[in-house]
This record gives sequence, C-alpha cells and structure tokens, in this order.
Amino acid sequence: MLPAGSMGVRKISHPLLLVRNLKKYFPIKAGVMQKVVGYVKAVDGVSFDVYRSETFGVVGESGSGKTTMGLSILRLIEPTEGEIIFDAPSEVMMEIKKLETKERLSDRDKKRLEELKKRYDLMKKDKKEMRSIRRKMQIVFQDPYTSFNPRMNMRDNIGVILKTHYPELSGKDIDERVLELLEKCGLAKRHLRRFPHQLSGGELQRASIARALALNPEFIVMDEPTSALDVSVQAQILDLMQELQKDMKLTYLFISHDLSVVHYISDKIAVMYLGNIVELGTTEQVFEEMKHPYTKALMESIPYPDPDKKGTIKPLYGTIPSPRNPPPGCKFHTRCPYAKDVCKKLAPPLVDVGDGHLVACWKYVEGAYK
Ligand code: SF4
Repeated sequence: MLPAGSMGVRKISHPLLLVRNLKKYFPIKAGVMQKVVGYVKAVDGVSFDVYRSETFGVVGESGSGKTTMGLSILRLIEPTEGEIIFDAPSEVMMEIKKLETKERLSDRDKKRLEELKKRYDLMKKDKKEMRSIRRKMQIVFQDPYTSFNPRMNMRDNIGVILKTHYPELSGKDIDERVLELLEKCGLAKRHLRRFPHQLSGGELQRASIARALALNPEFIVMDEPTSALDVSVQAQILDLMQELQKDMKLTYLFISHDLSVVHYISDKIAVMYLGNIVELGTTEQVFEEMKHPYTKALMESIPYPDPDKKGTIKPLYGTIPSPRNPPPGCKFHTRCPYAKDVCKKLAPPLVDVGDGHLVACWKYVEGAYK
C-alpha cells in the first residue's frame, strides 16, 4: 500500500460543495412502445460536504455509482433529484449548515434555508448559467486516449476550450496559455504540436490535467485518473495533482476503486455500495477505525506484500447485485457475513459513530441489531 494521506490534515476552511439527497435513476424501457418498466437506481440518495482545498475520495467496486455521482454533480448527466450547492460565500455555507443541523426549524428558518439553497443550487440553474459555472468545475477522465480528439494536436485540443469560453483570445494568446498549462503539468514545448497517439499514457494524463486547468477551476472531479497507468506513472501523476492542489488551492473529488490510491491522496473518504454511501469519515477514521463490513472486506482485498500476514477480516464473496433489482433492506445483506433479520427488511440509516464518522449498518444503531 502507498504511504498514508500525504496531504496531511489540512486546516479546514468552509465547504465549497454541499450535496444533498442526490439521486440518478435511469429508466428501463421495454416493448415496442418503449414503456418505462422500472429504474436502475445508479445513485440513490447521497449526501456529503466537500471543503475547500481538500481531496474527497470516493471508493467502491465498479457498479457502485461513483462515476454517475461525479457526472451528476457537474450536471454532465442530469440528476433525477437532489440539491448541489456550490461555491456560495462562506457565511452562506455556514448558515445553511447551521440551519440544517438545528433540531427544530421555525417556519422562518425553513423559508430562509429554502431561499439560500435555491440561490446556489446547481439544479436550479439553466444551461447558460451552468456554462459559466462550469469554468469553476472540471473533470479529468479515466481514459486519456478516448477523452482527446485524435485528429487534433495538444495545442488545439486544449486551445478549443479556451477559444469557446474566451472568444476574444488571439491565436498567439492561446499558444502561450496552452504551453504554460502543459509546462505546469510537467510537459514541454515539443508536446504542443503532438497528437494524442504520439504521447505515452502518463504524458497524456498530464495533458488531461492541463486541459482541466485551462479555465482556472476551483473544483475538479478526478474520475479514476490513474487506473489506466503503470504503478510508477501513477505515483508521478498523484504527486503532480498534489503539487497543483497546493499551488492553485484546488478541491478534488477523487473517484477510484483502488483503496491504496484513495488512502494516499484523500483527506476524507466516502465508501459507496450500490448507489449509497455506507461509510464516510476522515482517511484515518475509514482506514484505522473502519466499521462497515463492506469497508472491512474491501480492506481485506488490498494485496499486502507479506506472505506470512494472515487476514483477520472475513473476505468479500460474490459480485455486486444489479442496481436494476437491488436487494431490499440493507443492500449489502446478500454478501454480508453478519446479516440478521432486520438487515433483510429495513435499510440502515447513516449514523454518527463519533467525531463525524458516519456508518450505515444496523450493528451501530443501538438496540436494532438482534
Ligand atoms: Fe451487514 Fe446488516 Fe450491517 Fe448490512 S446492516 S452491513 S447486512 S450487519
């Protein structure tokens, strides 16, 4: 495993992003009339906060809804329901959080909360408003080879974004800005006129990051940015991301199925299973004091370079069920060695087990696990 969260514990400022009850359901259509016969619940009501300049890691098996969640937050796919409060002034964010945690809200409080959320909720923005907000929110995709236009060189692949958002820029301005971005990401002048197939995987992912930085964003969704790369190149890209984060005060939502990579880079981690968050906490809480049986099983699956080390946690069997027909109650009960009757009937709530460490398992709800 890579060394622990090298970013260390950062001084927390205030949230940049509040996600509330976010859902993305894909309709299942059948027959000649293409009637909707059900839904794939890819993201099924997730809520979390991302603070400025932190890396919020999201981990889970493939099919857990991580990427759909990232794309929904950017509204690159349209969410079904939920709130995405982004980039509100710090005092507004704090007021929203204060009102949300109040035990009882007066009618005035409710109205105020609604008003504040409405003003900064991305779900309420039209296409034109979203276009200007998107300058602040970018994405780096998993496969750099398919995310670039193969017929354009790097100057044009990145320059086209600058020209779209800033049509007043001259060709020379664009040349200079693209070169500056490439150099910032460890590439050189010779890469400017190269086509995607002329770059290695690592170089191309550096260029993807340069492209994401083109509009000076505040928030970047990193969707498995290192999973297509060799281990040695992975480490270089992670180091580059950390340097850029420090320099440009960037905030990352880092999506990966690779626990050791998430451990290395994240300040906080959400573990997802079948469209829900089952555990959420700081990197230390999730790795050192993991509670959810799914998190424990994922940890057990990390290869450890010591043949004498025997695992103490029961390994995870079977594959993730289809989100088209998820199990009732706790969605993990079909694979959980600790499942009891209550788990098969009712979905567990996400409860605080101490210091903001959240877990969705009946074992941690007092009196419920019988
Ligand atoms: Fe396992 Fe039950 Fe906890 Fe779900 S709620 S993780 S089935 S013990």
